[in-house]
Amino acid sequence: MRIFSRILSATATLAITAATSTSAIAQGSGPDGSPNAVLIRGASIFTGCSPDLIEGQDVFVAGNLISKIGPDLEPPEFATVIEADGRVLIPGLIDAHWHGVFATASIGQLMSTNEGYWNLLTSVAQRDTLYRGFTTVRDTAGPMFDIARATDEGLIEGPRVFPSGPAISQTAGHMDFRTTKDVPATPDKLNPFETSDMFYIADGVPEVLKRVRENLMQGATQIKLMAGGGVTSSYDPIHTMQYTKAELEAAVEQAENWGTYVLTHAINDEAVNHSIDAGVKSVEHGHMSTRETLQRFVDNDVWLSMQPFLDDVDAPALNEFQKAKYKFVTDGTDFVYKTAKELGVKIAFGTDTLFSADLARRQGAQLAKLQRWFTPYEALKMATCDNAELLKLSGPLTPYPMGPLGVIEEGAYADMILVDGNPLENLDLVGDPENSFDIIMKDGVIYKNTVD
Ligand SMILES: [Zn+2]
Repeated sequence: MRIFSRILSATATLAITAATSTSAIAQGSGPDGSPNAVLIRGASIFTGCSPDLIEGQDVFVAGNLISKIGPDLEPPEFATVIEADGRVLIPGLIDAHWHGVFATASIGQLMSTNEGYWNLLTSVAQRDTLYRGFTTVRDTAGPMFDIARATDEGLIEGPRVFPSGPAISQTAGHMDFRTTKDVPATPDKLNPFETSDMFYIADGVPEVLKRVRENLMQGATQIKLMAGGGVTSSYDPIHTMQYTKAELEAAVEQAENWGTYVLTHAINDEAVNHSIDAGVKSVEHGHMSTRETLQRFVDNDVWLSMQPFLDDVDAPALNEFQKAKYKFVTDGTDFVYKTAKELGVKIAFGTDTLFSADLARRQGAQLAKLQRWFTPYEALKMATCDNAELLKLSGPLTPYPMGPLGVIEEGAYADMILVDGNPLENLDLVGDPENSFDIIMKDGVIYKNTVD
């Protein structure tokens, strides 16, 4: 249902913008034909992919796409005109490892409530994410199909969502959040968290294939499997490898049959290699990877979707078992970022915030933290142009087929932020969206405007 409706809405938008996207502004659709026309005048543009700021540019948005970029554009009379006054216009930010449902809810809230409450809480989390300047997220586990649909339909405010749906985990794996009272389990006895699409437990090739297909049926744009030990889970020491080669390969083959790919949670080096061997295209975390393994990312054209996890203010609240596991992660962060950068690994930016509204508020600050290893340009490019490249791996399953994301260019989706200051000189600005982001636009719609 969801895919159908998302395609329908894309088609409707296509009809609205067809008249404007290929023609000059003067021939742009009139007030009767277009729901939206905005001219941002006199901006310095960071395109997402190039280190140079292009100064003195006007950007004309027709419908939900960027229609024209150039100096001294003449807007049609009906256009909303925003004077940028030399402020810097950047593409909307992308978080490649986000959990809409889990980011802000505490475990206590999730355990004591049902889907209705989760959805209300997540709709607030969606809105807050958008107002931090994140206009697209790749959701890497959780019951997000309906939230993604509601966002696209305009029922709620929020970023575009590339949903993975419920993460698929083996018994005792990283997403097995059942209690020991749930075992021994039988196929007819599902945990309530499984039936509410929080996670799916699947053991053996047939079960893995079934769950992968069920996620595709519901609108997954990529498939997430747990391939090794994680921090917040209860039954899996950090060193564990999860899923057999046959199980991972079956998931990869099924995803590829649908034109998309598998991403895996893999922190320890063996799990990372196991994933690469199976044909996984995006390895999440990878904090214990060796130099040889990182070279394999380059050789096999695999994305490293890593988080700036350190033992600092952004460390999550953990019990002793989890803390011991987290140390393996934080100990690896510095080496892996430095080495991956040196070797030319494709690195995605994602935050993987879990169970804390306070930490979620620091989504942009996490991006600014990349300054330890990257220039502001490299970090900003990662969260825009590069993350958008990663999203392209969803191929024909993308919910947003009309133009590129993560860039400012003619024909791209009009997802942009007008920054009061130059983030290429001061990346800390993205960590303070409330004061630094004067305009937040997604899909051609202005959500925030403090310019006037
Ligand atoms: Zn995650």
